[in-house]
Amino acid sequence: MKKALLNIDYTNDFVATNGKLTCGEPGQKLLNYICNLTKTFIDNNDLVVFPIDLHTENDSYHPESKQFPPHNIENTTGRELYSTLNNLYQANRDHDNVLWFDKTRFSAFTGTNLELKLRERGIIELHLVGVCTDICILHTAVDAYNKGFKIVVHEQGVASFNQAGHDWALGHFKNTLGAEVI
Ligand code: ZN
Repeated sequence: MKKALLNIDYTNDFVATNGKLTCGEPGQKLLNYICNLTKTFIDNNDLVVFPIDLHTENDSYHPESKQFPPHNIENTTGRELYSTLNNLYQANRDHDNVLWFDKTRFSAFTGTNLELKLRERGIIELHLVGVCTDICILHTAVDAYNKGFKIVVHEQGVASFNQAGHDWALGHFKNTLGAEVI
């Protein structure tokens, strides 16, 4: 079965200790798991996708500006992938099966051509890792469900700054979206 890894928002701002909107330690603990899984997908010639939040400074029209402090601003280190995942991405970014998507909403599908890229490769199974479980992972999973993709969420590869939200979302993936949580 053709599959893709969606490596969502694992950036300094969402993960590093001094990140602007950080998950902190629960996010940092995912690093080895996410890197190993990413390597496995690359080695097997499966698609690896990086849908990464993009904001511009002082964008008062963006809905998130009323809810969250500024984060993942274009051309800042806060928007770079966290730690060794960044090294892994930089070493493989020219690979045909490694794709970066700038996204400006929670879901990786909103305002991007991600679905076209998945469909043209015949991919029907999506593996989700990154942050935050109950925000960008959740909204991406809901869209994937509505578009008919099979969903696999890696429990050791997702985290949130809201533990209750994290736990709720894992149940929602399984019980409502029919996802496999592994
Ligand atoms: Zn954002």
